[in-house]
Amino acid sequence: MKSYIVGNWKLNFTVGEASIYLHKLQKKLPNYRDIEVVVAPSTMALQSLSLQVDRHKMKLAAQNAFYRDFGAFTGEVSFAQLRGVVDYCIIGHSERRHIFGEDDKMVQKKVAAAVRNKITPILCIGETESERAFGETADVIRDQLMGGLADVSDEDIDKVIIAYEPVWAISSTKAAKLATPDEVGEVVKLIQKTLKEIYGAKIEDKAPILFGGSVNPSNAGAYLTVPGISGLLVGGASLILSEFTDIIEIAKRVKS
Ligand code: PEP
Repeated sequence: MKSYIVGNWKLNFTVGEASIYLHKLQKKLPNYRDIEVVVAPSTMALQSLSLQVDRHKMKLAAQNAFYRDFGAFTGEVSFAQLRGVVDYCIIGHSERRHIFGEDDKMVQKKVAAAVRNKITPILCIGETESERAFGETADVIRDQLMGGLADVSDEDIDKVIIAYEPVWAISSTKAAKLATPDEVGEVVKLIQKTLKEIYGAKIEDKAPILFGGSVNPSNAGAYLTVPGISGLLVGGASLILSEFTDIIEIAKRVKS
């Protein structure tokens, strides 16, 4: 299975800055066959970056999109419009869930719309600090996974990526803490168990599981060696080119 290193730029960089970053990243990036490098710029920059990106080296992701293809939905951008522009879309990120009120039903529709439009959803799931403190992690993970994947058939599950991002470990969360590799490993097992319940034993090696939460070059190696982890979703550190390329190098080393 490939390893995935995905940079989530969130609401950062102007279109010009994004283009310069992409130019520099592609210059530094070898053509790795077994590492899928992806960046998720703001929607504003996607169209122009899609003309600049060298798809042999890396891919683009959207950070969000709406589940209806066209219609009276002021301010939205659809998966149908993003088709051919991006290969991936982050869906259900904790900032979408907690700042913009997206629930599992909305996430479910977005995942289905992504698959329908041939865009690979990166489905983000993760518990908050208080949910963990109340012993609700397993229920939250299960509910978010079952909800998000409710419309994904057995045939399509290999077109979905799962990203486990404990909200308390995301660097923008107040007083964020680092997750230990053991804590990540425990939840990965829960995810695998739930996926098997939904899709049966044949799910093995489909639906790669990524980890995200304050990943940087000094902890990337430890997270990448957690059994069942196939890559990283990187927020803050992906904004610094040298840190992002270091993480890609670490993934390459872990892979070989
Ligand atoms: C994220 O928000 O997806 C994320 C992983 O952010 P950070 O790496 O900054 O914690």
